Amino acid sequence: MRLSQLIRDNADELAKLESRNVGKPIRDSRDEVALAANCFEYYAGATNKIGGQTIPGAAPGVLMTFREPVGVCGIIVPWNFPIAITAWKSSPALAMGNTVVLKPAEQTPMTALRLAELALEAGMPEGVFTVLTGPGSVAGEAILTHPLVRKLAFTGSTEIGRRVMELGARDIKRVSLELGGKSANLIFDDCDFDRAVASAVSSSLGNAGQDCCARSRILVQRSIHDRFVQALTDAFEKVIVGDPLADATEMGPLVTRSHRERVMSYIDAGRAEGATLAAGGKAREGAGTYLDPTVFVDVKPEMKIAREEIFGPVVAVMPFDSEEDGVRMANDSIYGLSGSIWTRDGSRALRVARAFETGNISINSGSSVHLEAPFGGVKQSGIGRELGLAALDAYTEWKTVYIDVS
Ligand code: NAD
Ligand code: MN
Repeated sequence: MRLSQLIRDNADELAKLESRNVGKPIRDSRDEVALAANCFEYYAGATNKIGGQTIPGAAPGVLMTFREPVGVCGIIVPWNFPIAITAWKSSPALAMGNTVVLKPAEQTPMTALRLAELALEAGMPEGVFTVLTGPGSVAGEAILTHPLVRKLAFTGSTEIGRRVMELGARDIKRVSLELGGKSANLIFDDCDFDRAVASAVSSSLGNAGQDCCARSRILVQRSIHDRFVQALTDAFEKVIVGDPLADATEMGPLVTRSHRERVMSYIDAGRAEGATLAAGGKAREGAGTYLDPTVFVDVKPEMKIAREEIFGPVVAVMPFDSEEDGVRMANDSIYGLSGSIWTRDGSRALRVARAFETGNISINSGSSVHLEAPFGGVKQSGIGRELGLAALDAYTEWKTVYIDVS
């Protein structure tokens, strides 16, 4: 609880540090620092509310359970939301009595290091929340293979997630994974058109598209497809791209030059496979790793840009006909992390929400993460859930105690 207060007291400094860390707009950094403070507050509040049960078993005697810490938790986080993900994994682990060894991404260690200082200032004993910096192949694998680490919580790419499971298997470490996504934004012709367009922009360009929940596949019912593409393209061209520390900035640069090259290689692949650029497609000249918000149309479901996570400000727009077609296209992915449905028909919204193969879905909204609710993916988007009270399952073991009273 005290650490949560210290995060709030230092919010301005932390937000600036996060913007310098990632290159993300300062307004987003402020929100993410606030989420970090809220996480520590929420899970601090759980410490005296989560317990075991007394169970009416068949055997005579008393049957009860305790929820106990797992032990040392090795937590590995990516560069896109450094302080937010650090907080949402570490705070439930610490609240349930575990210790944490956290490795930030090598590109973005700054806010995690500052958080560790604040933890000491809050009175957390040394060694309870440790930050270990370094490349994944060295510092990361040291965590994955250390015999004293009993639990691995990883957020990052599906490729490295597989490695985490493989190495964790040696000691049967508990593993939870938050991995990649290629989420669908399913837009029906009876939607609130203007709100759907505005949300299609923010839910794909937020954090410059470097967001596991980015709605990078925009599926639009055919009768409004052309009108929607026109409005989306206009809106993409109006996005204020620039200095992360300027208050007006809506989209900053990409995290590194090499990441921008990777995103550009997807734009080249889209062109080569026959999709049409409706907006953007260019890396900006000069300082900073900026990339114009990019819209592809004439996209076929089998193209690379429709299947793989690009992790940049690039969307693929595809038309669909019936509700059934829309759902089939939305589910045609190895991933299942997030998604949105836009319609004014409440029955359809709930029908489609149930049919979506995903861990999180929003109706008439582009939101994904709610501190109070479980967050995570199905299929190759991950294993387990973070956030909400569901996260506590990943950071506790059940102990069953039976007392013979005869
Ligand atoms: P990444 O997998 O390359 O790296 C993630 C972390 O793993 C980094 O700290 C990295 O240093 C470490 N790492 C790399 N190789 C390792 C190894 N061999 N052993 C141990 N650790 C290793 O991911 P990234 O490029 O930092 O982030 C982008 C990815 O993260 C995207 O795929 C995105 O979808 C995913 N992501 C998922 C969520 C989610 O909640 N599902 C949230 C944010 C990001
Ligand atoms: Mn990476």
